[in-house]
Amino acid sequence: MLFKPSLWIKNVLSINEEFLSKHGIDALILDLDNTLSMHGDPAAEQGIPEWLDRMRALGVKMVVVSNNTNRRVAPLARKLGLPFVANGAKPLTIGITRALRYLGTERARTAVVGDQIFTDVMGGNLARTKTILVEPFHLEKGVLFKIKRAAESIVFKRDLTKLK
Ligand SMILES: [Mg+2]
Repeated sequence: MLFKPSLWIKNVLSINEEFLSKHGIDALILDLDNTLSMHGDPAAEQGIPEWLDRMRALGVKMVVVSNNTNRRVAPLARKLGLPFVANGAKPLTIGITRALRYLGTERARTAVVGDQIFTDVMGGNLARTKTILVEPFHLEKGVLFKIKRAAESIVFKRDLTKLK
């Protein structure tokens, strides 16, 4: 089952202490584009830096493996304080294997996390790690999403005003 993820979640923010212990995961090999950040965005998505801090506080080991270039991956990974492998060549196992060696964790207790079946999930399955498929952030870039966000922010501001 090369294309089947072990787990399928909305996004990395759903990963918490309970989730990790329930599924026996100690370490995460994280995709970058559309998993931690929108494709090409120099910043991470909202909530990602704080989520990374929560993972670190739990002792979760993490490394980024991206198929994108060093030029894209290095600045953001450094900003997020994550070690990284650029030009990861997923679904080939070269980059993931390098990450596993760096992490020193058991494959069965390490999860490759990403938004693409043919790179992230297939790569993790070939490397015999767990695999977690997330929904890509870029889907949220559509017009409908922008309208929804705008509506949300109006509602949110109104609620905040009420709280005062
Ligand atoms: Mg991706």
